[in-house]
Amino acid sequence: MKERLQQLQEDALSALQRAEDLKALQEVRVQVLGKKGSLTEVMKGMRDLTAEERPVIGHLVNTLKTQFEDTFVVRQSELQRQDIAAKLANEKIDVTLPGRRAKSGSLHPVTLVTDEVVEIFSRLGFAVAEGPEIEHDFYNFEALNIPKDHPARDMQDTFYISDDRVLRTHTSPVQIRTMMKHKPPIRIIAPGTVYRRDSDLTHSPMFHQVEGFLVDDRVSFGDLKGILTHFLNEFFGEGHAVRFRPSFFPFTEPSAEVDIECVICGGDGCRVCGKTGWLEILGCGMIDPAVFNSVDYDPEKFSGFAFGMGLERMAMLKYGVNDLRLFFENDLRFLKQF
Ligand SMILES: [Zn+2]
Repeated sequence: MKERLQQLQEDALSALQRAEDLKALQEVRVQVLGKKGSLTEVMKGMRDLTAEERPVIGHLVNTLKTQFEDTFVVRQSELQRQDIAAKLANEKIDVTLPGRRAKSGSLHPVTLVTDEVVEIFSRLGFAVAEGPEIEHDFYNFEALNIPKDHPARDMQDTFYISDDRVLRTHTSPVQIRTMMKHKPPIRIIAPGTVYRRDSDLTHSPMFHQVEGFLVDDRVSFGDLKGILTHFLNEFFGEGHAVRFRPSFFPFTEPSAEVDIECVICGGDGCRVCGKTGWLEILGCGMIDPAVFNSVDYDPEKFSGFAFGMGLERMAMLKYGVNDLRLFFENDLRFLKQF
C-alpha cells in the first residue's frame, strides 16, 4: 500500500509538472482527485485496512493530497502567467503606429480656380454676389443693352424656357440685379454657372464664368487696366505681358479683350496659343450708359467698368489641361491630381 501510494505521488506530481496548459492541468486533477481518480480509489480501499494500518495510511494519503493541492496551485498560477504573457505578446498594440487615415476628396479644379479668382478680387475690396440660373429676359438681355433683334439672343445660342425666361447665358445679369438694389460705390465679383447651346472640344453647354464690376464716380479705363493687370499677375504669376485689344460687347463702351503672353510657351508660339504667343483671357469695358439708364444710375454722375471670364478656360491654362470635357466627366483619375 505504501509503495502504491509512493508511486501514485510520483506519477501525480510529475503529471502536474508536465501539464502544458490550464486545461491539461485540470485533467490531471480529475485523474487524481476526481470521483474515479487514483487517490480517490486508494481512499475507498482504506476500509479494508486493519485498525493499525489505517491511521498510518490515512496520514500518508492526507500528506499526499495536501502536497498535490499545493503543487497544483503553484503550477496553475505558473500556467496562468504564461497564458497572459502569450496573450500580451500576440495581441500587442503598437501605439506608435500611424492610424489609418480616412480618404478625403479634393476640390474640383474649376472650384479651385473660382476660389482663387474670388480671393484675389476680395483683397481688392470686391464683394461676392450671386444670381439665379433661370433668368428673366430683362436681366439677361434687355437691361444689358441687348435688344430683341440682337443676334446674341439667337435660339441657336440660348436655352429658352419660355418666351421671357432663359437659362442665363452669362453672369452679367448679376450686374443688373446688384445695381438695382444698391447705389454706388459698388465693387462686385460674381462667379456662377451659365448655359449656351454649344458643345465641342472647347465648348460645353454648361460652364462657369466670373463677372466683376466696379461703379463709382470718376472711374476710368486706367482703373480697369490697372486692376485686371494686377489680377493676371496674381493669378498666373508675375512677368507675363498683358495687352488690351479693342472689341465689342453690347453692355460696355469702349470694350476690350485682354490677352496674356502665352503661359505655356512664354510667347514663342505653341499649339495652345495657336502659334501667336498670346492667349485670350477675358472681355471687359466701361459700362455702357444705356445699362446705367436701365438701372436708374445717372451716367453723367457715375462711371464704371465690367469684365467677365470663363473659369474652365482659366483652369485649362493654369493646370495645362487640353480638353474641356475632362472637367465634366468626373473621372477620379483626373480629379485626384488637383
Ligand atoms: Zn503658347
